Amino acid sequence: ATPTALMVGTGRGAQLGILIKGPEVLESTRRVDTVVLDKTGTVTTGRMTLLDVHLAADETETEVLRLAGALENASEHPIAQAVAKGATERVGDLPDPEDFANVEGLGVQGIVEGHAVLVGRTRLLTEWALDLPAELERAMADAEALGRTAVAVAWDGKARAVLVVADAIKPTSAEAIRRFRDLGLTPILLTGDNTTVAHTVAAQVGIDPEHVFAEVMPKDKVDVVTRLQEEGRIVAMVGDGVNDAAALAKADLGLAMGTGTDVAIEASDLTLVRGDLRAAADAIRLARKTLGTIK
Ligand code: ADP
Ligand code: MG
Repeated sequence: ATPTALMVGTGRGAQLGILIKGPEVLESTRRVDTVVLDKTGTVTTGRMTLLDVHLAADETETEVLRLAGALENASEHPIAQAVAKGATERVGDLPDPEDFANVEGLGVQGIVEGHAVLVGRTRLLTEWALDLPAELERAMADAEALGRTAVAVAWDGKARAVLVVADAIKPTSAEAIRRFRDLGLTPILLTGDNTTVAHTVAAQVGIDPEHVFAEVMPKDKVDVVTRLQEEGRIVAMVGDGVNDAAALAKADLGLAMGTGTDVAIEASDLTLVRGDLRAAADAIRLARKTLGTIK
């Protein structure tokens, strides 16, 4: 295409709510045949709310929410914000943790009012040699079967509760995935969240079960992209989080949600200003049209 056509393509992109890093990006956009979608914050709103608190024997909701809420208040993760907000609503002001650390892809850990607190996946507890009692394991499984995310709370060497948060699928996601298919693209879901939740969300937006990659650690997301490329696919990756940045950079085309983190935006070639996944399909159609290869 002529430089003028590329410029027009770039300008039209801006009208559609797509920021294009440079005209050369249109060429890789045109060639894409596979779209890898992060789940939380990309296919879903990422704005979660605290729905349920399941307590182990002898625990109180007030103490669970105070300690878990205090720790999550220090994290930016969508799950953390839901827990902190729900806790504040139910128990009031939360203390400041004396110590806090993010455990990538697993949860958070720290010290609150002298207690060593963990909030996160069962695997985080396992790493500290803690078991989840059967009744909490059941509560977790039930929540996940409904497509919700459940995280465990432990302190001082004992599992205390399971917190259930839910995240709404964006109303535009299913339509966006239909548009990807109309363009002949294969949609793939890639998430750190658990397999049951991932499959429930995939089914709701029209992604095939064999195209779901769940429980993928942040550092391994990029490997999924690499493997797909080794199969000969030309891969677009859409994400919003710090944990997506490496995969966004590795993909043939990286698309960031404008509502996402700066790190994701910087790692990407295209930004979907409004966080609407349909704009990703529009971008690919636009690139094909601009470069004269519309099917
Ligand atoms: P995604 O790839 O869907 O954006 P992440 O890699 O950020 O998800 O997180 C994967 C999983 O790790 C979450 O589903 C949750 O179980 C756990 N997790 C991560 N951060 C936190 C946190 N701050 N609090 C509780 N659990 C967390
Ligand atoms: Mg995300």
